[in-house]
Amino acid sequence: MSAPGTRVFVVNSGSSSIKYQLVDVATEEAILSGLVERIGEPGGDAADHVDGMRRVLAELGDAATGLVAVGHRVVHGGEAFTAPTVVTDAVIEQIEQVSMLAPLHNPANLAGIRAAMAVLPDVPHVAVFDTAFHQTMAPAAYTYAIDREVAREHGVRRYGFHGTSHAFVAGRAAEHLGVPLEQLKLIVLHLGNGASITAIDGGRSIDTSMGLTPLQGLVMGTRSGDLDPAVLLHLHRQAGMSVDELDALLNKRSGLLGLSGSADMRDVTKAADEGDRDAALALDVWAHRIRHYVGAYLAQLGGLDAVVFTAGVGENSPQLRALALAGLEFLGLEVDPEVNAARSRAARTISPEGAGVAVLVVPTNEELSIARQAAALAGA
Ligand code: ADP
Repeated sequence: MSAPGTRVFVVNSGSSSIKYQLVDVATEEAILSGLVERIGEPGGDAADHVDGMRRVLAELGDAATGLVAVGHRVVHGGEAFTAPTVVTDAVIEQIEQVSMLAPLHNPANLAGIRAAMAVLPDVPHVAVFDTAFHQTMAPAAYTYAIDREVAREHGVRRYGFHGTSHAFVAGRAAEHLGVPLEQLKLIVLHLGNGASITAIDGGRSIDTSMGLTPLQGLVMGTRSGDLDPAVLLHLHRQAGMSVDELDALLNKRSGLLGLSGSADMRDVTKAADEGDRDAALALDVWAHRIRHYVGAYLAQLGGLDAVVFTAGVGENSPQLRALALAGLEFLGLEVDPEVNAARSRAARTISPEGAGVAVLVVPTNEELSIARQAAALAGA
C-alpha cells in the first residue's frame, strides 16, 4: 500500500456514464477503476450523476481518504483553457460558455464535476482539457478560411483533441529515445476508435488533424474524418437530409463502419484478409488518409525524428502499423517486421537499426496523465 498522499481520483463523465480510476501518481499504478452506466435510465446504475458519484465513493471506501486531488477530463476548453485548471465557480462558468462548441460532451463533463464536488468538497478538483495541448498552434494552422466575422462570433477554428494523450505519449517517446523533448520533431498517431495525428515540434503541438470538433481528420471507427464540406450541402439539398440526420451520418454511421459494416478494426482486418472487398477498401482509405497527414506534417515540421503509434489500433496491430507507413521507405520511414510483430506493453522502437527516422510504439495512459497534472496543480 502506498501513502495516501499520492492518490488522485480521475473522473471521465459522460451524459449517462461515469468512468473512474484511482491512480497512485508515485507508483503510476491504477489502484482501482470502474464504470457507472445508464445513469438516469430505467434499470440503470444510478438516478443521476450525484447518485452515481455517491455509489463510486462507497465502492472506493477507505481508498478514497486522503486524496490529493480529483482530476476531471473535459473535452473542450475552447481558447480559454491552455492548461489544467483548478475548478472554481468562475471556471465552471467558463466551461459552460464553451459548451456551445461541444454540446454533447461539456455539459456531461460538468455534471461529473458538480457531482464530484458535491461528494468530495474538501479536495481540489482539477479540469484537464483535451484541447489544451493544441493551443500552441499558430494562427496559420488553426484558422479556417471562412468569413472572419462569422468565425469570430461562433468560435469557428481548429482546436484539436486527444491532447492529453498526444502530450503524454510525446513525453514518453522522448524518455525512450533518451533525447530531451525540446530537441525532437515528432508525429504522434493516436489510433483508437477516435483517431488523430499531431505534429509536435520541441514538445509543442504545431498541427493536428481534428478540428472544431473531433470529426475532422483521419478515418475513425464511426466518424468520416475529412470530406468536402459541400457534401453536407449536397445531401441536404439532394437527399433532403436534416441537420440531425447529417450529424448522425458523419459521426455515427461513417468511417470504418460506413465503409465496411464494422467499426472495430479487428473485424475489418479479418474481413479484408478473408477477401471482403469493402473491408479491403476501408483499410486502403484509412491508410491513404494517414499517409496524407504524415507527408503534410513532415513538411510542417521541416524534419522528423520519430513517428509514434499509440491507442487501441496503434498499440496492438503490427499489420496496421506496417500498412499505415507502407510506401514511405524513401523518407527513411519503415518498420522492422520482426520487432513490429513482437508483443509488448512497453514503449519500444520498431524501426530497423540505423533507420533515418525512429518508429515507436508508446502505450498511452490518459488517466495517469490527468492524475499527474491534477496532482502537480494541487501541489502534491
Ligand atoms: P477508444 O477511442 O474507444 O479509447 P481504443 O484506443 O481502445 O479506443 O481503441 C479501440 C480500437 O482498437 C478498436 O477499433 C479495436 O478494434 C482496435 N484494436 C484493439 N486491439 C486490436 C488489434 N489487436 N488489432 C487491431 N485493432 C485492434
